[in-house]
Amino acid sequence: MEDRALREAMITTARKMNAAGLNQGTSGNLSVRVEGGFLLTPTGMDYDTLVPEDLVLMRFDGSHEGRRLPSSEWQLHRDILAARPEAGAVLHAHSMFCTTLACLRRGIPAFHYMISAAGGSDVRCAPYATFGTAELAKSALAALEGRKACLLANHGMLALGKDLAGAFKLAVEVETLAAMYWRALQVGEPVILDSAEMERVIEKFKTYGQQPGPTGAK
Ligand SMILES: [Zn+2]
Repeated sequence: MEDRALREAMITTARKMNAAGLNQGTSGNLSVRVEGGFLLTPTGMDYDTLVPEDLVLMRFDGSHEGRRLPSSEWQLHRDILAARPEAGAVLHAHSMFCTTLACLRRGIPAFHYMISAAGGSDVRCAPYATFGTAELAKSALAALEGRKACLLANHGMLALGKDLAGAFKLAVEVETLAAMYWRALQVGEPVILDSAEMERVIEKFKTYGQQPGPTGAK
């Protein structure tokens, strides 16, 4: 995608985060890998007012280019994009239900088979570290081992995608699962699917949602 089209797609996705209820205020942020670095949303700006020039071009050495300062979580985005080459986009949000569970320092277990959308049989909650620090990035990376999403204790959530659309779709899925899990916890103790069943589900997921023929062909 051309630079301008990519910047516009990032702004559209950032606004979709608001519409989907993933963002609380200006707390969410979004990055996309580009040649030589990544594009990141600026710190403290309302997504409704963003224009393409407001996005910050960052390099992996932490230097940046553009008229705005990057999100305070730039290290989190940088370290994930550096450590996870398959990820083309990273989304971070303080969404209501993921954050509620994260404040209890609880991850999301296999209470529903769709948890496998995040890459495994659970979504872990990363131990607490202060926002905007290298420690937080380290903690998040450990919780993301073998996964595409995690919660961040007393903070929020992260979702990775091969592109913007993938990261957004997974963030919505994980927030939905967090809301379902939270609701189930109000009534009782949800039944957790066992590891044999989750292995079957994860295997099935490898071909889930793929259409045969020209549009779905690899
Ligand atoms: Zn945050």
